[in-house]
Amino acid sequence: MTMEKKFVTKTGGCICGEIIFKVKLDEVPRVFNCHCVDCRKKIGGMITIIDLREGAIDIDKTKLGIFEHKAGSGQIIKKHYCKKCTAPVLTYVEKYNKYYLYAGMLDDISILKKAKNIWYKDSHFPFMEISDEKLKT
Ligand SMILES: [Zn+2]
Ligand SMILES: [Zn+2]
Repeated sequence: MTMEKKFVTKTGGCICGEIIFKVKLDEVPRVFNCHCVDCRKKIGGMITIIDLREGAIDIDKTKLGIFEHKAGSGQIIKKHYCKKCTAPVLTYVEKYNKYYLYAGMLDDISILKKAKNIWYKDSHFPFMEISDEKLKT
């Protein structure tokens, strides 16, 4: 018996409302908290991205601006953002020929049950302990 992959359709969009999309995600999406310096500098914070399957997102790409830069590997990365409010929406990684969704663009993020920290040791944050514990106030 083969296991059927289960997918869930979610909606999302940017803060100004210009970008709205539907995305088909795995029941447990592949989520990465990326601590690399490139992500930090282009977003202004540590980022959480979702690895998208081919054709998973239904979005009007004409409304997206693109900022292109080179990754450490020398290959191209294209950050796609809303032309109106500049919110980051997608990132395209040439090395893997894949699109990743900036997780915060989802309207409902309750599907993000698991995440993997990547580029943590080589980042500027090796001193920071990543914890799920509540902060004491
Ligand atoms: Zn990164
Ligand atoms: Zn926008």
